[in-house]
Amino acid sequence: MLATIRRTATEDRLPEATPWRRCSACKKPIALGAVYWACNVSTCNQKRTALCFCSVSCWEVHLPGANHRESWAVEKRAPTTPDGGAEATPPASTGTGGVRRLVRTVGPASPTAAEKVPHEVLIVASRLKEYVRARVGYNTSDRVLEPLSDIVRRVVDEAIENARRDGRMTVLDRDLPDH
Ligand SMILES: [Zn+2]
Ligand SMILES: [Zn+2]
Repeated sequence: MLATIRRTATEDRLPEATPWRRCSACKKPIALGAVYWACNVSTCNQKRTALCFCSVSCWEVHLPGANHRESWAVEKRAPTTPDGGAEATPPASTGTGGVRRLVRTVGPASPTAAEKVPHEVLIVASRLKEYVRARVGYNTSDRVLEPLSDIVRRVVDEAIENARRDGRMTVLDRDLPDH
């Protein structure tokens, strides 16, 4: 009985109908105290233009125009009072306490973004030449550098895929495929 009264009192104080903001994508109201999604990228969280989304799929809507290198949706909770400001929960700095990171990376791994990744030589030419000279005394053509960089890229791409499967955003040595 007591519990029922208490719950009713809470509902009176926080009417669900009062919207906090509207979803930046679909314009659906986000209620006070409701869970919403923000973008991890700082330019999407500037005071005047802070984006908020009612769902992760709405967060994905802003990605094509945003041109983020790496991004993910961050679960947040709207303030419980209209003047509570945008920071009812502390920013994701702690990584704990109810702020959930949804790692849905959009970046170099998607085919369209991969085309924008610079296609550069990744090999230190002088070191490579030293190595070949030390081993067998041969010279090394500079034309080796580009295809060799492609091999490094292929191996690293595989490692990126392994890190992603683990839900990590850091490529570790153990992600590298065995050769
Ligand atoms: Zn929405
Ligand atoms: Zn964003």
